[in-house]
Amino acid sequence: MLGSVVVGVGIAGSVRMRDLLTPLSSSAAEKLSIKGFVSRRTLDDQQGVKQITMTEALSRADIHVAIICTENTSHEENIRQFLEAGKHVCVEYPMTLSYTSAVDLWNLAQQKGLVLHEEHIELLTPDFKQLKKDICGKTLEKGTLHFTGGPLKPNFGFPAFSGIARLTWLVDLFGELTVTAASLEEEKENKYMKMTAHLLTQQHKPLTWIEERGPGLGRAKHIDLQFQDATITELPAGQREPVGLFMQDLVLFGRKLQGDVSAAELQAERSRILHCLELSDRIQQLSEGARA
Ligand code: NAD
Repeated sequence: MLGSVVVGVGIAGSVRMRDLLTPLSSSAAEKLSIKGFVSRRTLDDQQGVKQITMTEALSRADIHVAIICTENTSHEENIRQFLEAGKHVCVEYPMTLSYTSAVDLWNLAQQKGLVLHEEHIELLTPDFKQLKKDICGKTLEKGTLHFTGGPLKPNFGFPAFSGIARLTWLVDLFGELTVTAASLEEEKENKYMKMTAHLLTQQHKPLTWIEERGPGLGRAKHIDLQFQDATITELPAGQREPVGLFMQDLVLFGRKLQGDVSAAELQAERSRILHCLELSDRIQQLSEGARA
């Protein structure tokens, strides 16, 4: 068994604790047991799990794994501390708020022989799985993915990072991309922002990614994907699955810990994650350059 600790008790951290307490039976998630949680607040037991200090989490020999569920600005420091202490890490996306720090952390994990896993539950949703099947074999001409949602929480970083789940969709569907232009409109007093990134596929087909957030904007993804012989303007409703998204991710993490994921799969995943972070960096640079 691998003892684990959950760091950060927000929405994601609470789900992680629940899943660690009731892992999917006969899955790799059963190899993980929860030893405690770390929070900057002083909290009562959560779901029967005890709070422990960061120092204890980093030093206890029966803790082998950390699951980082804090706000995005503190992921990098938390990951580094746990890797330095010889613990495997699962971090909620985005791993960090820059490409170079993610490369550094991955190198550190490799030197230490530890698993560094970034959660991407958006790739596990039934709608995404169905969309991927629906577009299989189709030739893209152009497309738009427009995300809307409520105001961004503080400390979640530039929208190209906080919204990396949408970019990850585009990269998983259409392959590696390049950024041709990006801009950010922001009305801080109204808690409104709109980021627009123009991307090109390797076949030079244009994709537009928009992240728009503000009060009253419903959480939704609007798509307009034009193919040579078809247009998709609505997300397909995929088949609901009995296993929750975070549990599916925990099983994948558990399989990595058991050495049950092939080197080729790990390499492909790492390339995709680093590619997305590099694109996010570029989008941020271009947006900030455009505003300067
Ligand atoms: P959250 O705002 O619920 O929690 C973020 C951090 O804030 C946590 O460290 C938590 O301990 C702290 N926090 C929460 N309530 C607090 C309070 N009342 N006082 C002081 N601190 C408090 O955010 P979240 O949705 O859990 O997101 C955490 C991470 O998970 C982020 O990196 C996010 O990108 C990622 N993530 C979340 C989801 C999701 O469905 N919520 C999905 C995928 C990835």
